[in-house]
Amino acid sequence: MDAVVPAGRLGRGGTDAGGVERVDLDGRFVLPGLWDKHVHLTQWALVRRRLDVSGARSAAEAAALVRDRLADGPPEPGTALVGYGFRDGLWPDTPTAALLDAVAGSVPVVLVSGDLHCAWLSTAGLRFVGVRSHPTGVLRESEWLPLAAVVDRAPDHLADTWVADAAAAAAARGVVGVVDLEITDNLTAWRRRFGAGFDALRVRAGVWTPWLDDVLAEGQRTGDVLPGTGGLLEQGPFKVVTDGSLNTRTAYCHDPYPGLTGPEAHGILSVPPDELVPLMKRAHDGGLQCAIHAIGDHANALALDAFAASGARGSVEHAQLLDDADLARFAELGVVASVQPEHAMDDRDIADRHWAGRTGRAFPYGALDDAGAVLALGSDAPVALLDPWAAVAAAVYRARDGRTPWHPEQRIGLRTALAASTDGRGLRPEAGGPADLVILDADPFAVGQGASAEADAAAAAALRKTPVAGTLLAGRWTHRAC
Ligand SMILES: [Zn+2]
Repeated sequence: MDAVVPAGRLGRGGTDAGGVERVDLDGRFVLPGLWDKHVHLTQWALVRRRLDVSGARSAAEAAALVRDRLADGPPEPGTALVGYGFRDGLWPDTPTAALLDAVAGSVPVVLVSGDLHCAWLSTAGLRFVGVRSHPTGVLRESEWLPLAAVVDRAPDHLADTWVADAAAAAAARGVVGVVDLEITDNLTAWRRRFGAGFDALRVRAGVWTPWLDDVLAEGQRTGDVLPGTGGLLEQGPFKVVTDGSLNTRTAYCHDPYPGLTGPEAHGILSVPPDELVPLMKRAHDGGLQCAIHAIGDHANALALDAFAASGARGSVEHAQLLDDADLARFAELGVVASVQPEHAMDDRDIADRHWAGRTGRAFPYGALDDAGAVLALGSDAPVALLDPWAAVAAAVYRARDGRTPWHPEQRIGLRTALAASTDGRGLRPEAGGPADLVILDADPFAVGQGASAEADAAAAAALRKTPVAGTLLAGRWTHRAC
């Protein structure tokens, strides 16, 4: 049974004629299955396998974490043990290749620093990234940055296994579908995976400019189901990145960044309107929706202009800083605001600095909702965890890590946040819809909102950890703990 049917349509007993299993959910809570509308799934699959060494207070402690991980077994042949997050600025001892060699022997080890600007490698790790010899094993800045991409790749057969693991973990959090915006020949990768039996999630595979012609030539339209994938793989949207990011002060803004002068003081517009509009029009004429990355308020205004000028349908991805005048345009143009609420939690301090005086309209989910915009939640994994409950909790409470809520006036209600996570299916499974369902042990609506800052911080933490008892995809269990 891959669709929802009305109550009473099935007989009684343990198993009905037709082999339909009957499960007593014992009063548990059922919602339509959850979607993450913005992921980079291969990158996420790689990152979640990495060793977290961010807690190491010395080089010796980091080496001990490497030793402990290797006690569970070596990395796959042809790959390195990759760790991340170390901060050696305050370490009492000195990281050296020899220290890692002592715990890892011939296993290549590559530890990337928390700021990504340096890496500490074992002797085998140095060889793995193509460095014959090095005096310390710690590569900084220009020594490391050109090599950094080496750890972001894996052979297809391994990446596919890791993606399957990541998908199973997502299903265990109630996810039934993702929009995958990995920067690659996405459709080919997903055809290969589904061809090999992948069936843990629905996938909408986005397409980037280098592969746009291929997709248009095939006549593939957004929403088309690809044959041979059990109905689970769909052509996704056409993705264009028009500006930079907040962290790097490259998000394109009406106002200059505090302290910056010169031509890039307002950020960087990487795809100006005279390129963007024809590109979107071509995709739209070929039946593709557009997913336009815009973070700064000026980039968002131009993205909305481009939707109006091209007639394209789709979403603005991120929409992190918005001019008040643009809020209503999302609804007017029918453009979805595809947002990643964990970014607001990750970047609140940076926003307070780089967007000082403007944060009242940063990550403005409440204002977008008030203006009638359709919101869609996502993670942008690996930037944030692929866990919709983290996104929902951040959107509803604007609080994390026990901190007081940040701009609580921009919260949205739990109903809105969940409805923005079910791919337009609302909060109730409807008869005739696909049997994509999530079963929760606890009623998420039992947690309150707005009683006090302390109560909200606790409620946010509880909502983040919402226990998922089961997930059904087209009537088939992809996660079952009930
Ligand atoms: Zn992204």
